[in-house]
Amino acid sequence: MFKINSFYHIEYKKKPFCAKIVHMKYADIIIDISHERLDKTFEYIVPTELENQVFEGVQVVIPFGQGNRAITGYVVGLHDTPEFDVTKLKPIARVVKDSIAIESQLISLAAFLKRNYGSTMNQALKTVIPIKKKQNEKLKKEISLAISIEQAKIELQEMMTKRHAIGKERLLKELLTIDVLDWELATKKLEVSSTQIRDLEKKGIIRINEVRTFRNPHINEGQRKHIVLNEEQEAAAEQIKADIDTGRKKTYLIHGVTGSGKTEVYMDVMEHVINMGQQVIVLIPEIALTYQTVMRFYTRFGDKVSILNSRMSPGERFDQFERAKSGEISIMVGPRSALFTPFANLGLIIIDEEHETSYKSEVVPRYHARETAVFRASLTGATVILGSATPSLEAYSRARAGEYQLIELKARAQGQDMASCEIVDLRAELASGNRSMLSRRLKELMADRLAKKQQIMLFLNRRGLMGFVSCRACGHVLKCPHCDVALHLHNGGVMKCHYCGFTTRTVKTCPSCGSKYIGSFKAGTQRLEEIVKESFPGVRVLRMDADTTSGKNGHEEILSAFAAHEADVLIGTQMIVKGHDFANVTLVGIIAADISLNESDYHSGERTFQLLTQAVGRAGRGSEPGIAIIQTYQPDNYAVVASANQDYNSFYEQEFAYRRLLSYPPCSHILGIQVSSDKQKDAVSQADILASLIRQTDPKIVIMGPEDAYIGKLKDVYRRVIYVKADEYDRLVTVKDAIDKFLLEQKQYRNTTTWFDFDPISTI
Ligand code: ADP
Ligand code: ZN
Ligand code: ZN
Repeated sequence: MFKINSFYHIEYKKKPFCAKIVHMKYADIIIDISHERLDKTFEYIVPTELENQVFEGVQVVIPFGQGNRAITGYVVGLHDTPEFDVTKLKPIARVVKDSIAIESQLISLAAFLKRNYGSTMNQALKTVIPIKKKQNEKLKKEISLAISIEQAKIELQEMMTKRHAIGKERLLKELLTIDVLDWELATKKLEVSSTQIRDLEKKGIIRINEVRTFRNPHINEGQRKHIVLNEEQEAAAEQIKADIDTGRKKTYLIHGVTGSGKTEVYMDVMEHVINMGQQVIVLIPEIALTYQTVMRFYTRFGDKVSILNSRMSPGERFDQFERAKSGEISIMVGPRSALFTPFANLGLIIIDEEHETSYKSEVVPRYHARETAVFRASLTGATVILGSATPSLEAYSRARAGEYQLIELKARAQGQDMASCEIVDLRAELASGNRSMLSRRLKELMADRLAKKQQIMLFLNRRGLMGFVSCRACGHVLKCPHCDVALHLHNGGVMKCHYCGFTTRTVKTCPSCGSKYIGSFKAGTQRLEEIVKESFPGVRVLRMDADTTSGKNGHEEILSAFAAHEADVLIGTQMIVKGHDFANVTLVGIIAADISLNESDYHSGERTFQLLTQAVGRAGRGSEPGIAIIQTYQPDNYAVVASANQDYNSFYEQEFAYRRLLSYPPCSHILGIQVSSDKQKDAVSQADILASLIRQTDPKIVIMGPEDAYIGKLKDVYRRVIYVKADEYDRLVTVKDAIDKFLLEQKQYRNTTTWFDFDPISTI
């Protein structure tokens, strides 16, 4: 994070070459759009007659080098003050007319990021343009059956009678439906170990081939699931397709209950757009990018699809982007950064689970994929579809205001009932003497489901119940010496800082008062697992949290084991509630709904509602009806009640009223400014200076702070924050620009770093 932020610093060190000259504009031009050359810009004069045609992203012809060879480049910046000796600057020769090069689009996108989220042009360009690969092409491995399908079925039968061959079984089952499976997909997504694969190869059951380029899995025709859209889905898809056909380019918000089949609607519209010769970007939260999801797209669109994920190396990403540019593929599915796929003729952008916080970048430029997608779509006249069961306040308020078109899917796809929901008051539980994490009602239902061989999910938000080490006598909490955060107990008697990696041995006595009653509180999920095992001897439990998923693909492994009914109960943090479809789950227990309510962030009501609704939505997806139990100390809280009633509108009304009352987004906008330095004194003074600069720039604007950041010290760097609030986004942009200008000219406090966060999604 700090490496990236420090770009800011470097940029501000550049000093303008001479004083301002009026009536003349200067352009920074890049001539080589590749990641490692983005720093290299050349300055040219913008002739007055071209002034209204030259803007960021435009392709221009310039005289270059000794011989004034005419070459093309792209404008990436414009300013009034030249950085070099004006007498040596040459003018731009001409603007390339009608150039709709994808590069122009990406540069415009970078300019948008820079303006609206705050960063240097260089940082913005690096965000949108992929790194050119340097390494040699790697060979890819593919797996296919070496025997006939009939023989494979027999092998599978045999395997299933033995134990401990689950990975091999999964692979074999998959090869019954797919001709060729990519090695990476098998090991990373399907969770089959390489030893297991090699073993099957030795037995002559499968064959492994090395190929030069990646090929998508080939799905056997007979295996395709033919889904006919239900009436609601059909109406939704038809409406969007009709708009596309008549040239109306809009942003849609599909508010569909959990299990309503939003993905089928997306795929129907996608097919329409592909058939028109255009391309599609589908954004999905990384955590939901599971084997099943990936396969749904492969099954439907075959070779046209490519998948991006954050584990890919820069070279692999570059390859995928090249495939997109060359027209080899026309659908890119991936997390936030897939938004920058260089499709020249983009027709549709889909953002699934639009409310997810992972759509906001956590590094500068801290852009939000939703707004950036709408902007990118406007460049090419593409359509945008946002989808969620629990839309963000931002999106829903825009839909209400008519800025987005609202489409509702009110029923589950195959007519299943929504899970029924009961609230258990934990205060009453306590009053009647039950101190367990499991209420009597939840226990009773668990016993019933276990007897029926149905599955259960128990959800516990981990926050607030962390495994930190503290003294029971004086309350002293052991903190990292480099960061303002508590240390966590790990296996093997060490304590570790989750932010900087600092590790130290556990202590026997309290360093503050000498008491020997010092220890850690077990992580909530771990404790819950013990309780479940004690309460139901013999029960098979899987636990999914930061500890059990630290391995590269840990979470996928746990999910597929649960899907294969290798466990009765899945215990987990919020990661288990995201979009997974387990037909056999008929009971969902939310152990403590209040934990996320008590966070000191104005989003806490919204987050709680989203988590509870998604968690409740996990129950009863198959043929058996589902039930959800919400345990809480605040049974009357509006977010708890609304999610129990699955009543989005009532939640929205109350949450919106609260935001309006306190003037929080979406009823206003907030700009977070963080100033950091390894010298506390400098961070403090610089933040004070910026605060008074803001006051001068906009005397009426609301300023909060400066104060210490949420984590006041991180990796020995001190952090101060200022929040600025305004009804109009542009007022905040003006503040940001004033600070940018000031930093560029400022001579002192060069060892501080400043970055911006517009409408932060959590306290910075
Ligand atoms: P959502 O994303 O809205 O939660 P999905 O698109 O994942 O819902 O659909 C949930 C399940 O219902 C999936 O297994 C999907 O294949 C199935 N499904 C969706 N639409 C239909 C339909 N029209 N007929 C039959 N099954 C459907
Ligand atoms: Zn103590
Ligand atoms: Zn630390």
